[in-house]
Amino acid sequence: MELFECHGHLMLDGTEYARARARHGGGADRTALAENLAALRAAGVRAYRDGGDPLGVGLLGRDMAEEYGIRAASPVFAIYKRGRYGSILGRSYEDLAEYRALLSEVRRQGGDFIKLVVSGIITFREYGELSCPGLPAGEIRELIRIAHGEGFSVMCHANGSEQVLAVAAAGGESVEHGYFSDDDCLSAMAETGCVWVPTLTAVEAFLARPDTDRTVAEATLTRQKDAVRRAARMGVKLACGSDAGAAGVPHGAGAARERELLLSLIGEEALKAGNRRILEAFFR
Ligand SMILES: [Zn+2]
Repeated sequence: MELFECHGHLMLDGTEYARARARHGGGADRTALAENLAALRAAGVRAYRDGGDPLGVGLLGRDMAEEYGIRAASPVFAIYKRGRYGSILGRSYEDLAEYRALLSEVRRQGGDFIKLVVSGIITFREYGELSCPGLPAGEIRELIRIAHGEGFSVMCHANGSEQVLAVAAAGGESVEHGYFSDDDCLSAMAETGCVWVPTLTAVEAFLARPDTDRTVAEATLTRQKDAVRRAARMGVKLACGSDAGAAGVPHGAGAARERELLLSLIGEEALKAGNRRILEAFFR
């Protein structure tokens, strides 16, 4: 079965964010990119979808990937609401006029799809706690509607049941992370064909970190695994994406680990269907 990395960040290298980003301080660094692409190729990754960065590194990586036998797609940068989580991955908007301008910028730079950030990240301090409030469902709907109107597919970073449900109901093409999804979220994803990329490896990596409450991280991962099993039974398409590049998730090894974790929970067919759908919806 072919190995896909449906969620990674070529700007990052699996070490700490600041250190990885600093390598691109003077512009996208081809040597750093070549290291990441070589690691992906060595692991057997054939398709790679980037999750965006503020420096245009993933976009250059997409164009370099072909030499490594890898099909790649990039959103250029992620788009988030000013004042909320997302600055480490992209650019912010305050109102819909600014949002539309960012969509035009993605098009101008040759991005393949839109990456939206509509919630915070898991804090691992208290079970279920996220780093900031998520966007209201109405705003999420509007952002997705506008991106679709511009002909883009939408990859959505969403944690928390309200935000995941809003993304799936609005026809977003994929939910990234999707921690704390409930059964309403899962049925909405099954119904609309929204692919779920549960990024299990990214949270598993937190188990080893000294600043993490291990009990919280374990409970979070267990809950996610249960939801993944239920989702597959309900007909949700799942895809292999590890958040490669994040601290503790190396390129290549991340995708291999994510596939292993997913196949311990769901059948190969559900995973193939999800991967294939990501390829159709996000790659040109
Ligand atoms: Zn990511």
